Amino acid sequence: MNPYWSALVRDLRPYVPGEQPKLSNLVKLNTNENPYPPSPKVLEAIRAELGASLRLYPDPNAETLKRAIAQYQGIGTDQVFVGNGSDEVLAHAFQALLKHPLPILFPDITYSFYPVYCGLYDIAYTCVPLTDSYEIRVEDYMRPNGGIVFPNPNAPTGRLLPLADIETLLGRNRDSVVIVDEAYIDFGGDSAAALVNQFPNLLVIQTLSKSRSLAGLRVGFAFGHEGLIEALERVKGSFNSYPLDRLAIAGGVAAFEDRDHFEWSRQAIMWTRQWVAQALADLGFEVLPSAANFVFARHPSHDAGELAAALRERHIIVRHFRLPRIDQFLRVTIGTEEECQILLDALSELVAGKA
Ligand code: PMP
Repeated sequence: MNPYWSALVRDLRPYVPGEQPKLSNLVKLNTNENPYPPSPKVLEAIRAELGASLRLYPDPNAETLKRAIAQYQGIGTDQVFVGNGSDEVLAHAFQALLKHPLPILFPDITYSFYPVYCGLYDIAYTCVPLTDSYEIRVEDYMRPNGGIVFPNPNAPTGRLLPLADIETLLGRNRDSVVIVDEAYIDFGGDSAAALVNQFPNLLVIQTLSKSRSLAGLRVGFAFGHEGLIEALERVKGSFNSYPLDRLAIAGGVAAFEDRDHFEWSRQAIMWTRQWVAQALADLGFEVLPSAANFVFARHPSHDAGELAAALRERHIIVRHFRLPRIDQFLRVTIGTEEECQILLDALSELVAGKA
């Protein structure tokens, strides 16, 4: 290939998604999916849609879904944007809202897609280190910037930034767009969605992938001031005039209607998380406090890479990041009680030598 083009391709640094193994007999605790099925009402709605109208284009404004989300959040429909998973919503938000002469700020460590978007859209960024206890400190974000983005709870640490701190951050950065990526907020955090009418510079992004068990349906959404939402619509509309397919719209609406299923599943995960965190601590792991559907933990005398490899031999897949500062941590998705028991039995064998 012409060297100019090969250099262009080389500089396009892709995001590497978590592994989706083809084997089915695995305890899969590596990509933070929900271990429970989605609401039966979602499946019913998708089946009905399948039978009725797949030959027709979907609504280019996804009105029914936007209305369901707006009602759920108590905001206006024109304050809601929808896309194919929050990854796509984030991509459009970076492109529409974070181009600025000053670098944007995001934490180091955080979701590894952010630098990929910056590379793709030519956005300068500065990484702001977490504290020694892996927390975001809002005082570190009180400097001139072209925008701020962070997950809350953070990934892959699981640590939560309290809403009061987010309010302080927003108040001190009124000229910057602040994006709060709430992929995991339903597992014990307070959503910043409550602040969107107070701060026109705030964009909150959420997903149906985690707490609603719909990672395969690809539905993400954002709330914010009408002006920010309009910017996202303009970018998205120039890629594809249909924001979501018919099945995603129908399933998404039903997901918001079934509050009981949602409550049950998130409570089950939070309960299991507490149990797993305590059991890991009993095995000698240091476990960071988590408000997400995963825990981030390290053992003082066992290499995380070796533990992950030994678990894999036992058909248990967890995540291990070979990155400075967190190289010794494992990130373990909270599965069903049964899956977590299999993991804990294996770890107790590996760490404590118990058969
Ligand atoms: N944000 C964070 C922090 C995540 O961990 C993920 C999941 N990988 C996403 C966004 C994207 O989720 P989805 O595209 O499935 O909505």
